[in-house]
Amino acid sequence: MRYHTPTSFADAAAIAVAAKGTLRFLAGGTDVLVQMRAGAVLPDDLIDLKHIPGVDQITRTAEGGWRIGIAVPGIVLGAHEDLVRDWPGVVEGMNLVGSTQVQGRATLAGNLCNGSPAADSVPGMVAAGAVVTITGPNGSRDLPVEQVPTGPGRTSLAKGEVISAITLPPRGKNAGDAYLRFIPRTEMDIAVVGCAASLRLDGDKVVEARIALGAVAPTVILSEAAARAIIGTTLDDKALAALAKAAEAEAKPISDKRGTKEFRIEVAGVLARRAAKIAYDRAKGLKA
Ligand SMILES: Cc1cc2nc3c(=O)[nH]c(=O)nc-3n(C[C@H](O)[C@H](O)[C@H](O)COP(=O)(O)OP(=O)(O)OC[C@H]3O[C@@H](n4cnc5c(N)ncnc54)[C@H](O)[C@@H]3O)c2cc1C
Repeated sequence: MRYHTPTSFADAAAIAVAAKGTLRFLAGGTDVLVQMRAGAVLPDDLIDLKHIPGVDQITRTAEGGWRIGIAVPGIVLGAHEDLVRDWPGVVEGMNLVGSTQVQGRATLAGNLCNGSPAADSVPGMVAAGAVVTITGPNGSRDLPVEQVPTGPGRTSLAKGEVISAITLPPRGKNAGDAYLRFIPRTEMDIAVVGCAASLRLDGDKVVEARIALGAVAPTVILSEAAARAIIGTTLDDKALAALAKAAEAEAKPISDKRGTKEFRIEVAGVLARRAAKIAYDRAKGLKA
């Protein structure tokens, strides 16, 4: 195995595009190193991204959003008060990943690119309208987060492409987000269903909504029907019931040892309702 330590994304992309055989990037390593130890993945080239300047930084964008370096671990996100104030749902999704030890290493980009349909940080990023910057052999491009995973363990990144940053849009006023997951035990488990909601209010009325469902399809679902069910409402019981119904209709899960298809569909509705309510309360400043 060749271990590389590029000091720029352009160099990382050049190494990646020239590589033959199995290639992996190394961010926190909490997926890659476990897969290597288990013998499931044996990379010919392992490109460590942590030597690139700025990858451990969280900075304000000129527009008032956030640019998150691809090696920023969950624990640093959770300790960043301004970021948490703007995007509590994005951060709580990432902070549900693993244990304290895992939090010290695991990154948003790694969670996204590992391609698990149950990845906990992805619904929150999708609901937030997060965008990744991708650097490749021919330069850089931006892509909405929901267009990165294409199925279990797969992404839309072309050979030689690497995510060089994640950007969250400006939060603005009267807005809130939230992420909830169901697991059969209290922690250290994989989401049976996950749901993130991001809302903006005008007075008591919902004027913008993005609802993302995780672990109920091969990739995260951004449900326009679920958003439509609550836009224009005050999130009263009728709107919450319509939201749950829309989320249930959108969920296309499989049955496995952690939950049947029917159970997952029902839980998708329950979590959509609860996540939207938390996001609504946060938008009103009623809940941290
Ligand atoms: C004990 C334990 C518990 C866990 N619990 C959870 C959990 O509750 N929820 C959950 O969602 N996950 C969980 N995970 C999985 C893992 O921790 C997360 O997916 C984590 O966010 C991966 O991030 P990383 O930086 O460690 O990725 P890495 O292991 O470094 O990389 C993961 C994948 O992403 C690719 N990659 C990394 N960075 C980039 C980049 N910048 N551009 C392109 N590709 C890139 C790599 O090539 C690799 O394929 C757990 C893992 C462990 C070991």
